[in-house]
Amino acid sequence: MLKALELAGFKSFADRTRFDFPDGITVVVGPNGSGKSNIVDAMKWVLGSQSAKSLRGKDMSDVIFKGSQTRGPAGAAEATIIFDNSGGQLPIDAQEVHVTRRVYRSGEGEYLINQQAVRLKDVKALIRGTGIGIDAYSLIEQGKVDRMLQANAKDRRAIFEEAAGISRFKAKKDEAERR
Ligand code: ATP
Ligand code: MG
Repeated sequence: MLKALELAGFKSFADRTRFDFPDGITVVVGPNGSGKSNIVDAMKWVLGSQSAKSLRGKDMSDVIFKGSQTRGPAGAAEATIIFDNSGGQLPIDAQEVHVTRRVYRSGEGEYLINQQAVRLKDVKALIRGTGIGIDAYSLIEQGKVDRMLQANAKDRRAIFEEAAGISRFKAKKDEAERR
């Protein structure tokens, strides 16, 4: 379902860069410091990661290309995750769903779904129940397997609810009840 990732001015990717993820397994190889982990950071960032630390930076503006010996810093960082939605897994009537996050040096930023400005809440609602989110099970980082194994019954149930696609409805119900 993940089709491609496009970066521009994001961390070490000063130029517009596109990664395609065809069917099967994609392996990213490269020397230390070449930007492999920055690719994963970009995906977490688009999906709404709010903590600079989880993106291995001190400050949120650390995601913006800071310049090199040969070129000046970027004014903004942008990343777009492109999902193939031909199977209709995402609740949007489009073959492809583009989720974009952009942040400017001023600190201002925005989220877009298929080029339309949205709130982070809308991005979260879009991916809820698909297993794609930053806290969901599709991004497995160091320590995550351990945390899943040691989770208490409630947290473990949340993992299964996300996998079963129930969490989307649960969140809607909770929101309706709060009104
Ligand atoms: P390793 O194999 O050691 O895990 P890696 O391929 O995962 O390496 P990354 O951690 O993705 O490498 O990339 C780190 C590089 O990204 C560093 O060279 C760092 O200077 C660069 N970098 C991080 N943030 C920025 C930024 N805002 N502007 C420019 N470069 C940046
Ligand atoms: Mg790395």
